[in-house]
Parts: sequence; structure tokens; C-alpha cells
Amino acid sequence: MRLDDAPESSNVSDNRGMGGKLALGGGAGGILLVVLGLIFGVDLGGGQRAAGPPGEAPRDGYDKFARQVLGTTEAVWAEQFKTHKYENGKYVPPKMVLFSEGVQTKGCGSAPSSVGPFYCPADQTVYLDPTFFDELEKKLGGSKAEFSQAYVIGHEVGHHVQNLLGYSARTDAKRKSKQENEFSIRLELQADYLAGVWAHHADKKYKIIEKGDVEEALKSARAIGDNRIQEKMKGKSWPESFNHGTDRQRYAAFSNGLKTGDASKTKLNQYFDEGQTPFNPRTGELDNAALFPK
Ligand SMILES: [Zn+2]
Repeated sequence: MRLDDAPESSNVSDNRGMGGKLALGGGAGGILLVVLGLIFGVDLGGGQRAAGPPGEAPRDGYDKFARQVLGTTEAVWAEQFKTHKYENGKYVPPKMVLFSEGVQTKGCGSAPSSVGPFYCPADQTVYLDPTFFDELEKKLGGSKAEFSQAYVIGHEVGHHVQNLLGYSARTDAKRKSKQENEFSIRLELQADYLAGVWAHHADKKYKIIEKGDVEEALKSARAIGDNRIQEKMKGKSWPESFNHGTDRQRYAAFSNGLKTGDASKTKLNQYFDEGQTPFNPRTGELDNAALFPK
């Protein structure tokens, strides 16, 4: 991934090293409010490290990487909101907090690192512990290449875009109904699609994609499919419990966004069109070959 021409966002806080100050209890219980904003549907657990003493954020350049990736999302979505006249053409970007071990959010309770990156709609913030990518590679067979990490950030920013455009509210309205998982999948696949749309335009503007990058991101998109995670963690999978989409669906959603770059209402609404079935609720499999390409 090439970020030489990427702008730097001023919306990133590097709070890594502050982990020791955060009293974390109850595993993922505290973050039920943000369950829709997670990159995948499980708590990886196991890696619950004891909180170390408070210290400084590591000087590893990660904060700069995060500022640049977020900077490109800000430029792309500002342009897309203008083009499509969303929110009167004005995009208000999210904040991003880098943390280690665990985090106390402003609006969504506390979360351990093991739940992976997430977006909290209440405080419009993306929370990310960069060590997640080691787990993604080691435990789930994903990739920690830079562009794969950028895809994950693009997915979380996608949740912010959905929050602004009202898709999150449509999903919230289905909570505790029979369609809860179906709408969660619709939202998650649309977030993958939006990550693809970001990558399409960010590459046009800043030439960010290098040889092999797309394959790395797609490797991760597949690795965090519900079926793949359940098979890795539990030895089998339960399609009726899927809430983020299968490996093939996530692959197709990101690829399609990357190919088309189309952020029009017509295109985005397809993910919420009940006449379009992006998955078969019984098998969890993909029904529409590449998620509604037109
Ligand atoms: Zn998500």
C-alpha cells in the first residue's frame, strides 16, 4: 500500500499504553450496544491479557498510518456526499481512537481488544487496537498487510456512513425480531461494499493500491466470514446464527464496491431491498452471484 500522497486526518487519538488505567470486566458484555459495529460476530477471547502499567503509546508509526488511512476516507466521503447530495452535501467525519488491551468508550460502554475493531454510533468513533491484526492473521487466517488493515478501517468508517444515511437505524428497528440477523447481515455486507467504494476512489485520488494489495484485503474479507470464523473457533458453523455474512458474501461485497465505486442511493438501497436476497437464511450461502452487480 502506498500512502505517499495521502492526507493526514486530525481526528485520530493514540491512546495506546493507557490500557492499565482501564478497569475491564465482563468480557464483551459491556459492549452489547455496539454489536452492530463490529468487524466480525464473535469475541475471540483467550487473548485477554492482564492490563499492564500505564505507559506511552509505542512509537511505531502506526498513528501516522491510521491518520493517513482515515484522511483518505475523509476526502473520499466528503466528495461522495457532495456528489450524491447526502446530508446537504456535507460529510461530518468520525473520530478514531487507537487503544491497547481494552477501551472505555464515551457512548458504548467498555470493550476488550478481543472483540476486534468497532464503531460506536453514540460517539461517532472508530475504536481500533492494532494488535488485532496479529490475531486476524494467526487465529483466523486473514492478512495483516497494510491494505488489509485499511480495508478494516474502511469497513468501520462504512458503519459511520451508514449511521449518517439512516441504514443503521433501519437495522436497529429489526432488533429482537425474526429478521434481526438478516438485517445485521445486510448492514455488514453494505459496510464491506462501502469499504470497497472507499478503496476505489482513494486509489483514483492517491494511487494507494499496489500489486498484491487487493488479494490481501480479500483474504481478510473471507477470513472474517461467519462460516469461516465459526469453523475455525468451534469446528462447525450454524448458518441461522450468522450476522455478518459468509466468506463468499463478504468477498463479493468488497470486490463489487472496489470495482464500481458506486455510492448512489439506488445501489446502496439494494442491500436493504427485501426483494434482493443477498443470502439464503437456511444455508447462509450466497444467492445472488456477486451481490447485485448491474
Ligand atoms: Zn461491521
